[in-house]
Amino acid sequence: MTQPRFFVPPDWIHERQVTLAGDVEHQVRNVLRLRPGDRVIVLDDTGWECEVELTRVERDGVVGQVTDERPATGEPRTRIRLYQAALKARRFEFVLQKGTELGVAEFVPLVCERSVVGDVAEIDARQERWRRIIREAAEQSRRGRLPILRPTAMFTLACQEAVDAGALTLILSEHHPPLTLKQALERARSEDGRAPAAVSLFVGPEGGFSSEEVYLAAQYGIVPVSLGPRILRAETAGLVAAAGVVYALEL
Ligand code: SAH
Repeated sequence: MTQPRFFVPPDWIHERQVTLAGDVEHQVRNVLRLRPGDRVIVLDDTGWECEVELTRVERDGVVGQVTDERPATGEPRTRIRLYQAALKARRFEFVLQKGTELGVAEFVPLVCERSVVGDVAEIDARQERWRRIIREAAEQSRRGRLPILRPTAMFTLACQEAVDAGALTLILSEHHPPLTLKQALERARSEDGRAPAAVSLFVGPEGGFSSEEVYLAAQYGIVPVSLGPRILRAETAGLVAAAGVVYALEL
């Protein structure tokens, strides 16, 4: 059986003793019905994983002992930040879940000119549910760090911030920009002599980015790139781009 994995707050681990609480405690005791002697992996979001042997599984508490600590293997070297224009809640959830599996480090919902007001309004109301989706996907896919869900950002501020962060920043455009994602990544690698440490990707809403937005992004030095001749849905485009970065730089 693959060992169950749980992200926990760091203060649950104290001098190699782990005290589980809340939902994790419930999972271990009532859902998985684990017993003293069983092992789980506990992650404190530092990139390390602790192997834990349960020592006590009772109604009034679940406690374990750390038996081994090692770096988690699921983190990509490249830090991928996905600026994804607001989508219908269910589609956004799909992006969060699959993006986490693919190795995205940060998600930033974006408000663009053609964003649908209802889609934007839904985002901040669902933060808690969405953090849970990310956590579960991170546990399932054996990430060592929890991807961050950032507050919704306006397009222009996001451009500024992405560039200030020093990442290679690309805006996905379906209007045949001169470079493909692959070419942009290859060019960055040959200019610097090494793969970029961080890549930020801007993905537009269902109606696409306006030409002003693509122009404005270019003013910030953000490079427009294509994912090929087919028009992808917004949620597909972000995931394909993230997978493309992983393929080009990690595999
Ligand atoms: N409404 C537009 C399509 C928008 S697709 C139309 O029908 O013409 C939504 C977003 O996905 C776009 O803003 C872009 O960021 C991304 N996207 C979709 N297909 C793409 C492609 N082939 N290349 C690059 N980006 C793409």
